[in-house]
Amino acid sequence: MSIFHPATLICPNCSTANTVERNASVNADRRPDLRDAVLDGSFQATECTKCGTALRLPPHLTYMDLQRKQWILAHEPDHLDEWPQTEAAARDTYARSFGDQAPEMARRLGAGIHPRIVFGWMALREKLICDELGLDDTSLELLKMAVMTTVDKPPIADQTELRLVGGNEEALELSWVVTATEERLADLSVPRDIYDGVAGDTEAWEDVREKFDGKLLVDLRRFVAGSVA
Ligand SMILES: [Zn+2]
Repeated sequence: MSIFHPATLICPNCSTANTVERNASVNADRRPDLRDAVLDGSFQATECTKCGTALRLPPHLTYMDLQRKQWILAHEPDHLDEWPQTEAAARDTYARSFGDQAPEMARRLGAGIHPRIVFGWMALREKLICDELGLDDTSLELLKMAVMTTVDKPPIADQTELRLVGGNEEALELSWVVTATEERLADLSVPRDIYDGVAGDTEAWEDVREKFDGKLLVDLRRFVAGSVA
């Protein structure tokens, strides 16, 4: 089931109160259009009725796509620092919904799912693109680490993040985006060979890869935000 509730967004430009449908739960199996909307950025987005300023309600929802084996709890990006508690709570929720504490039928439906939590729209979108391109999300995070150490002066700051934004069989498109506004500051095309090298090199990356083992927040930002674990 996909659940909607009306929510109010105050325009930062003219203070007009706008109404947006807030989604508490998205079932992409039944509503593939909502998956499309997450991918194209129109999900929970609108324009101010008075001045036309682009507005978007941050995510706070459960995203489920059983066919693609995805179960993702998406939270507001400014809640990133609370990730340790969020990850623990999500682990419990997943266990009761599809994991080892769920009824047998639900467990069967959940077989093969690696539950995830994300903070912000770009992070949720990234997980969908990652799956679409047949990438392993842990290897993607390792690739980002490799990229960050080789690029001159990457715009790494609290307000920006490196995200997968697209790609094909030849290359992966990464972008430094401003978390709050989704503005893309700099794009980077990485040959897919480099990803394949990272994904296939189990020895060189073993230590870092292990840090993501069994985790729900498969995101480099877990190493820099909140009470780091
Ligand atoms: Zn406005």
